[in-house]
Amino acid sequence: MERYSNAFELPRDVWLAIAITVATTLIEDLCRFRMTCCVAHDVGDEDTVLRMVAIPPLHDMNWLWIRDPIGRRFFKRCIEIGHPELLFQEALRELYIRRNHAIGWEMLQNAARNGLDAAKYALSMELLIRRDDSDAKKEGLELFCMLEAGNLLPACYSSCFAVLTISWPDEVQMPEKGEEHTVCESTRCLTRGHMGLLYDYRRRAAERDSIHGVGGADHIRCIRCRADYEVERFVDIARGHLAAQYTVAMMLMLRDDAESKNKGLQTFRGLKAAGALTNCKLVFHSVVQGTWRHLRRLPMLNAENLVCSSHACPSRGNMGAIYCHQRYGRGWDVNDGDGGAAHIPCVHCRADYELILFVHLFD
Ligand SMILES: [Zn+2]
Ligand SMILES: [Zn+2]
Repeated sequence: MERYSNAFELPRDVWLAIAITVATTLIEDLCRFRMTCCVAHDVGDEDTVLRMVAIPPLHDMNWLWIRDPIGRRFFKRCIEIGHPELLFQEALRELYIRRNHAIGWEMLQNAARNGLDAAKYALSMELLIRRDDSDAKKEGLELFCMLEAGNLLPACYSSCFAVLTISWPDEVQMPEKGEEHTVCESTRCLTRGHMGLLYDYRRRAAERDSIHGVGGADHIRCIRCRADYEVERFVDIARGHLAAQYTVAMMLMLRDDAESKNKGLQTFRGLKAAGALTNCKLVFHSVVQGTWRHLRRLPMLNAENLVCSSHACPSRGNMGAIYCHQRYGRGWDVNDGDGGAAHIPCVHCRADYELILFVHLFD
């Protein structure tokens, strides 16, 4: 039986301020806070507090919370009262996974109104895709220009990428963009109509493991053409799903428990066998670009969480040295082909090498 202690006679607004501070730090902290006494319990349940709960990054989300009825009710309530981040995530799922367009559209607008940049981004993409609606296009372009001016596009793309590809990569269905449909309509623009080609070129380059796969349309002067490039990237988001698997595998292997490590290693082996690692790193690198907004704590790698733990392995413990040699010896880039740890027979050690690389992709 739980028993609450007596409430301290603090004014309500002080309690509220405390609850908000706790809620914006960590969701678990809010739960603990609510267990301390009955005043905390009540205050911790107020809309103002719940609207500001810090939601962990998706790859770090405890899935038990979502399966558990109490957890589910909690998140449902947060969405109902308009928690911007949760509303945005749910909106993307409604739009592109469950295909409930009307509901998703409403939620997305709501999240954008609440000031969430990623929601404004997705909204602008949706508006720009509309073919026969010039008002929608104008509104979409205004949003796009604002995000572009604030240098927010990479972070926004990365948020959409995380929501759509980390949990259900295979079920994502993005909207169709008409072949002929472009945001740029200027007859004097030199780049008009070429953004699809440029995007395809970059994607194919990435698939061939070429470093030319990285980079966008930042060098293009026409902002409308840049919007066209971004639309291509957005409707193609689900193709990045191998990169999402890569991210999840790496995050799992960085954990301390054997079960997560094994799960991560299994995916890692699959990606390695498919020759997809370099491409995944390129995609991930372009997504991260130092703006993985959700990530408040960077992943850590230390002696305790290495994957190879075999005492008989001759290469164990040398991966850090090999990595440093690679990085500082002949110049380091993601696209290191066979130059990395490919000659080392121990797959666990190779995973460790990739983990060191992964952690450095955040630099
Ligand atoms: Zn143009
Ligand atoms: Zn080893």
